[in-house]
Amino acid sequence: MKFFLRRSIAGALAAIVLCCGCAYNGAKRMMPEESGAIAEQGNAESADRTGKSAAKPWQYADIAMGTVVQQTIYAKDETAAADFSGKAMEMLARLEREEISWRLDTSEVYRANGAAGSKEGVLLSEDMAALLENCQELWERSEGAFDVTLGAVTRLWDIDKWAAGETVEGFLPPAEETLAQALDTCGSQKMLLVWEAPAAEASSAGNPTRLFLPEGTQLDLGAVGKGFAMEKLCSLLAEHPHVTGAVISLGGSILTYGSKPDDSPWRVGIVNPFDTSASIGILTLEGQWCISTSGDYERYVDLDGVRYHHILDPKTGSPAVSDVRGVTVLMKDSLLSDGLSTACYILGPEKGMTLAEQYGAEVLFVMADGKLEMSDGMEQYFKRL
Ligand code: AMP
Ligand code: MG
Repeated sequence: MKFFLRRSIAGALAAIVLCCGCAYNGAKRMMPEESGAIAEQGNAESADRTGKSAAKPWQYADIAMGTVVQQTIYAKDETAAADFSGKAMEMLARLEREEISWRLDTSEVYRANGAAGSKEGVLLSEDMAALLENCQELWERSEGAFDVTLGAVTRLWDIDKWAAGETVEGFLPPAEETLAQALDTCGSQKMLLVWEAPAAEASSAGNPTRLFLPEGTQLDLGAVGKGFAMEKLCSLLAEHPHVTGAVISLGGSILTYGSKPDDSPWRVGIVNPFDTSASIGILTLEGQWCISTSGDYERYVDLDGVRYHHILDPKTGSPAVSDVRGVTVLMKDSLLSDGLSTACYILGPEKGMTLAEQYGAEVLFVMADGKLEMSDGMEQYFKRL
């Protein structure tokens, strides 16, 4: 039985930020493979509309939320850039630790999973309550394709282990019966979110919501965590007026913000699923955008000619069988761009575009035969290479 694990960092960075000959002048930590994820396209950037050359940004690369975080920061000076970058990394680490990790016993998701089956349920932070409400709505609108209650099933496939790049020696797909049992615990209709009127003396607690999960039902926010993080990064950027422009890449999600000193647009490359070291096309964008990509080339195991990837079809509990190789969602709001790309991968172009439209999102599908399908609005931003 032959298998191999592949987790290329270039693949994890499903979209590539194209920067003009920018060196990692402020890099905290740089792994050799990461340099391959940034395409240096000097000529692309120097052809700005104003004729002015772009002042060079400060660049930082580090690890958070189990992925590579790359920050390209245009700021008043290096101190302002480094200050923002450090705060962003701290915030991402805190999000992981205190809110979304299912592994760390310090997180809300861990506590919610631990309280599954209890009568008391668990009191949620406002942020988490809003996130789960949005996830439940996306589950409904995607006809169940997107489901954050797949935790019991994702654990069986051990998807996070692959993502961490650990050895998967002895990998075998879960037995059918075990999978069926785990699948019984899934379904976002099982998440009961109950708003509790705050006691008068505790009104500062905001809008408390309690989550009840049935026994065995487990949350996995792997498909939305980076969107959640991008939303927080937008708020953090707004608190840092000395940062005038930024592109922050978190694994498969990228946030563009503000502008460059020469007002030339952001150029974001979309990874070619057939050659993850290259871009299949470029998005040209102005101002704030969120770009999320999901694909079967990001995390997977090939075993006996079958690709077991990390996007599961909630109908079967197994990796979604699809003609799609990769999906990129482009939208102004960050929270759900990540969730939408996962949902669209499973739904395919027809249903995926209808879903994306409901959220005002543009979407691009790279199909297994190499063809591209995209929403009408995407055409003004995307250019195939
Ligand atoms: P993404 O890379 O954003 O598409 O998210 C994939 C991750 O989301 C996986 O590694 C799982 O943790 C989780 N996941 C897999 N399938 C689904 C699904 N159908 N709905 C929601 N989350 C999923
Ligand atoms: Mg996603």
